[in-house]
This record gives sequence, structure tokens and C-alpha cells, in this order.
Amino acid sequence: MNEQAPNFPDSASDRLVSDNLLVRNYLASVPVKKITGEAEQQQYRRDIAALLKEKKAVLVAHYYTDPELQSLAEETGGLVADSLEMARFGRDCEGDMLVVAGVRFMGETACILSPNKTVLMPDLEATCSLDIACPIEKFSAFCDQHPDRTVVVYANTSAAVKARADWVVTSSIALEIVEHLKVRGEKIIWAPDKHLGRYIQEKTGADMLLWDSACIVHEEFKAKGLLDMKAIYPNAKVLAHPESPSSVLAIADVVGSTSQLIKAACELPQDTFIVATDQGIFYKMQQLAPEKTFIVAPTAGNDASCRSCASCPWMGMNSLQAMYQSLRDGSNQITVDPAIAKKAMIPLQRMLDFAAQHRMQVKGKA
Ligand code: SF4
Repeated sequence: MNEQAPNFPDSASDRLVSDNLLVRNYLASVPVKKITGEAEQQQYRRDIAALLKEKKAVLVAHYYTDPELQSLAEETGGLVADSLEMARFGRDCEGDMLVVAGVRFMGETACILSPNKTVLMPDLEATCSLDIACPIEKFSAFCDQHPDRTVVVYANTSAAVKARADWVVTSSIALEIVEHLKVRGEKIIWAPDKHLGRYIQEKTGADMLLWDSACIVHEEFKAKGLLDMKAIYPNAKVLAHPESPSSVLAIADVVGSTSQLIKAACELPQDTFIVATDQGIFYKMQQLAPEKTFIVAPTAGNDASCRSCASCPWMGMNSLQAMYQSLRDGSNQITVDPAIAKKAMIPLQRMLDFAAQHRMQVKGKA
């Protein structure tokens, strides 16, 4: 079934305009990022490390954040991972406080899984185009129109949307869960990423009704530019996240979640890779495979003409300065309404149980 769900906004061109506006508004609202010198940066790192220790706090950072934050998380005993691993690590680690370097839905997931810990974020305005484009009122009304369908949502959604779902999935377990539902004869509502939804639909043949939204970073990757680049680097393998358009996925040698792409970069024998995902991932790829070369896949434009340039503007809001201030002042605490958290925990736990039963690690760009 290829039926597309009516969505916010109502058409693809409206959505594109909306996405552009979204990013322009964001760029206009934040001051130009202050470039800190090496000495200043080192001072921030020392101060943050001291505050983490003093407050019994743990720093967890997403693969798409700046390398300086990823390395700080590792050096201070925290973790660099996808959002669900961040949340699970945060839940299981000792300490009273979590500092989540990522975007809003990741902080919310950490809250849901760690209700007894304080969760801080460097910037509470850091969000995600997928989360924004799936508002709970419209999504809930849409689900109500299709009561015969199982509601499966990607982790890149608000706590309220998760609370409305039957299943929450990450990119690395989505195929298996949808396949499982298909075998049980269930028809599915999928939200919010249409590219990932279409990819899963093609792989599983499941009956899926797709919500129409996309990640502004991955949607920028273009097949034409990728083919041109492959001609320049004929021996390179193309690694792509399934949030990319289907024309890009058709060219890719490996399609997978962040963790799966990192694994492929390490295990494949090639020494050069063209990577279609946020370039923050290069920190971990280069760390694990220092002898290899990683090239960012071409996007629709450059600099001012590009909406993302393979770099998420919201992930970029996480900075050393903002993190220091948040930790020092205890500001930017993220909370989730306990009633919503309780409901959202059900589909999240369902995924964790499925993964445990199938002895799978639940990783992915959640
Ligand atoms: S990279 Fe895309 S999916 Fe990830 S937070 Fe940014 S906008 Fe959302």
C-alpha cells in the first residue's frame, strides 16, 4: 500500500517551504557561534569535567554532535552513541544527573527511561524537523481515522507522539519489528520519516500508511551529485542512512543506522567511503578506522544555498559554552509529564523486550 497520509503541511512543496522557513528562523534566532581559541576550549573542558564530577553527572552525546563534545563525553566516562543507547546507558549508569548533548526528543527519552535522574540539555531549543512535522494533535487525529492499524513511530518524535503509539522503533530494529508485525497480519501507520518508511515498506512488503515528513539533513543528499562523486572515487563504497531519498539509497552499497554505518566503515576492506549522513559521524568513524578516508556525500547546495550541508543545525546548538552554563546553573532541565512518560514507556519497553527476545542490540539513529 502506497497511500500517503495527509500531513502538516498539506503538500510536499508546502513542506519544503516550511522546512526552509524553519531553518532560516533558527539561523536568524541564534547568535553567530563564538569561535573559542584552543586555551579557552581547554578551560571549558576542564570546568565541565569538574562540574560533572561534583554533581555526579554523566555526559552522553550523540554521534552527530561536534567532535569536541563527543571526545569530552568519552574522556569523562560518558558515552557517544545513538539516542536509545544514550538513554539506556543513562538509565543504567550510576549518578544523579544526565547531561544529554543531542536534540530534544533524546532528552525526553532519557527522562522517560530515567525518571529518577535530573536530565539537562545544553540548549532546550535544539529540536528535529521530524519531531516538528509530527504534531501530536494532527497525528492523533490521523491515527483515530485508522483504528484498524498498528501505530509504529520512529524514535525521532515527541514523548506525546510516542505515548500515542503501539511501537517505538529505531532505524536498526525497524525492519525486524515491521516484519514481525506483517507476519502477524497487522497493517501499519508509520511516522514520521517517509524515506525510512518507504525503505522499510520496500524491504518487508508490509502494508504501511506513511506520514509525510523528512529529515532536513538527509533529504539534502542528491543522487546526481553522488554519481558524479563515485566517478571521481571509483573504489569508494557509499554508506547511506535510510532517512536519505530512495534515489540515494539505490546507489548506496550499505544502507543502515549510524551504528551499522560505523560498523561497515570498520569492517569493509575499502579504504575510502562516501558517507550520506550527518558529518558528525566522522569523529567516530575516523577514531575507529584512522587509516581510512571518509568523504561527505554531496548535498543540494553549498553554504548559503544549502539547508543543512550534511550538518544538523539543531545538533550544532550543543556547544561547550552552553553545556558549561547549563551544568553550572542547573538550567535547561528537560522534563516529561509523568502521565505521558508512563504511556510512552509502554511502546518503548515493547521495543526493548523485542530486542532482548531476539537477542538484538537496539542501536540506531534514534
Ligand atoms: S539530523 Fe535530521 S533526524 Fe537527526 S536531529 Fe537533525 S533534523 Fe532530526
